[in-house]
Order: sequence, then C-alpha cells, then structure tokens
Amino acid sequence: MEPIAIDFEQIVLRHICEVCDRDELLTPAQAFDSGWDYPPRMGMFGVVSPRTCGNCGIESTLWWAVAMENRAGDELTEKQYAVLARIQSEPESILPEAEVNP
Ligand SMILES: [Zn+2]
Repeated sequence: MEPIAIDFEQIVLRHICEVCDRDELLTPAQAFDSGWDYPPRMGMFGVVSPRTCGNCGIESTLWWAVAMENRAGDELTEKQYAVLARIQSEPESILPEAEVNP
C-alpha cells in the first residue's frame, strides 16, 4: 500500500481521550502543544498506543491493558473494544465528520 500522501499536520482531526472522553477538534500541532498523546505526532495511525489528553495518564488506556497487563479477547471492556475499532480505522475514524462509536 502507498503511504497516505496527505499532510496531516495541517488537518483538523478529532482528538478523543480514551480515558476522560474529552473530544476536541485540533490540528496535530495544537494537540501536541496541549499535551495530547495522539498520532501523527505521538504514535501512528492504526497502531495501538495511548490516545490521551494532557490531563490523563496512560494507565487506563487500551494500550496499557494490552501491553502492560497482557489483556486480550474477552478481558477487554466494551469501551476498550470501541477504542480498538476506532484506532484500527484511523485516520478516517477521526475526521471531523466521522461518526464515533459508541
Ligand atoms: Zn483525558
């Protein structure tokens, strides 16, 4: 697959904190300056890593559950599954017009 030729630094994306559910429309630069851990500055689209705002820690993230606690399958919560689905369909799933589930 060809890499996506869009410069996401210039694009406003939904930033959804998986811990506190904060949901903001920001460019990657604005998000980074506000302390968000979010691709493309932190991590990669489609790859599980923490998706958090500047106020939240990573201990409650899907990434922590999978990488640090070795949780899988039915050990994940419904919310963690929703986060996983959203991450796997990035960046389409976080475009401003995208519907976010649930
Ligand atoms: Zn948060």
